[in-house]
Amino acid sequence: MSDIPREGLADRFWETKKLSKMNKAEWEAVCDGCGKCCLNKLEDEDTGEVALTRVACRLLDNETCLCSQYPIRHQFVPECIVLTPKTLEDNLYWLPSTCGYRLLYEGRKLYDWHPLIAGNNTAIHEAGVTMQGRTIPEFEIHEDDWEDYIIEEPT
Ligand code: SF4
Ligand code: SF4
Repeated sequence: MSDIPREGLADRFWETKKLSKMNKAEWEAVCDGCGKCCLNKLEDEDTGEVALTRVACRLLDNETCLCSQYPIRHQFVPECIVLTPKTLEDNLYWLPSTCGYRLLYEGRKLYDWHPLIAGNNTAIHEAGVTMQGRTIPEFEIHEDDWEDYIIEEPT
């Protein structure tokens, strides 16, 4: 699995370009690699409330927090949601509070640990906001038991 490419991008492009104007490479680079959107969630049918579990998608790497098959992930996980400027708004309700897309959409700044600002992929893990070392693969836990694995989002 390879890291999210961040080379050759314009300096601090995310401060001047709207999400809808970003090219593919810029858009992908906004993802901080926290892995939190790859956790299975439980949605309350009545209230619409979303609870996060530490039961992760079968393709999530527990150490890097990256998708192990990102370019071809839909062959294995057809239901994996593709975030784009067009789909972002509909998915905001479940995106983690620290997600780079959510922050920029809400007109907020990226955190200093974001790889685009920190210049590395380790600061985010050191800040404790990722799922590194905290997930359980979904094939180990029956779906009926996911509620036993509900967590608070690490922020
Ligand atoms: S929650 Fe947002 S920033 Fe974190 S991995 Fe998912 S898309 Fe990327
Ligand atoms: S397929 Fe990859 S990107 Fe999609 S939820 Fe699973 S680990 Fe995340």
